[in-house]
Amino acid sequence: MSMLVITSAEEVQKWAMAQRAQGLRIGLVPTMGYLHAGHLSLIAEAGKHADRVVVSIFVNPVQFGPNEDFEKYPRNEARDLELCEKAGAAVVFLPQVSAMYAPDASVFVTEERLGNGLCGAKRPGHFRGVCTVVAKLFNIALPQVAVFGQKDYQQAAVIRRMVRDLNFPLEVVVAPIVREADGLAMSSRNVYLVGDERSRALGLSRALQTAAQTIAAGPCAAGAVRGQMREVLEKHALKIDYVEIVDAETLEPVSEARQGHVALIAVYCGRTRLIDNRVL
Ligand code: AMP
Repeated sequence: MSMLVITSAEEVQKWAMAQRAQGLRIGLVPTMGYLHAGHLSLIAEAGKHADRVVVSIFVNPVQFGPNEDFEKYPRNEARDLELCEKAGAAVVFLPQVSAMYAPDASVFVTEERLGNGLCGAKRPGHFRGVCTVVAKLFNIALPQVAVFGQKDYQQAAVIRRMVRDLNFPLEVVVAPIVREADGLAMSSRNVYLVGDERSRALGLSRALQTAAQTIAAGPCAAGAVRGQMREVLEKHALKIDYVEIVDAETLEPVSEARQGHVALIAVYCGRTRLIDNRVL
């Protein structure tokens, strides 16, 4: 069966309805393209839960702030399509911005609790853009299961909450973070790293490792653990956007850090914003 590349939302919906009419389960993997092994792991995971996997590739302007990297976000459609085909996707949904948003679009989805802190605080409007596009993708691909990466921990929590609170009839699966051999979390944005930035970027995973080691010895004041993480990040000359330890479900900062909590980091490495996290 050869992979379909579809640019029209209506056409994907028709395809999805036909699959469902045959009793087939659809899995959706939303992405912004420039695919790496992290994305491919999500496609493989979706394949375990579904008969047909839809990969969407869409750099969603609504989730980018005015001074962010929407225009220069890396793109390589031909390579992405090849990787999707090899990974066994049934459909790649590749819409133009104009096919996703009417010029006078005026309905957006907002989550009002989990998305307030962390990246939500640093990137106003980001999760409104994410929720809106993901809700649209759910209505377009009609999946029974959708797979997201733990790499974007807060995003996964916000999407789960949206699915629960808006009664989307599907299951959300969150897949583990795929890392480079040296520990750097894979990201399309890693291509921006130049010169010594690539090695300095190791500060994120090392800081998380430090936090995990501390907590392994027993509960510890969160402020002290955050201090240790900051120290590692600063040693790698990374500019801290935030360093937090939060409850895994509520995403509220904790005062005493222990196993099961989540450490999250956002930094600038040069001009590139990088995030990473680890369940302690
Ligand atoms: P993006 O294309 O960066 O918007 O990511 C699309 C999906 O892939 C999201 O669910 C991400 O959390 C997930 N993802 C990105 N990087 C990784 C990674 N290194 N490991 C696992 N999943 C990832």
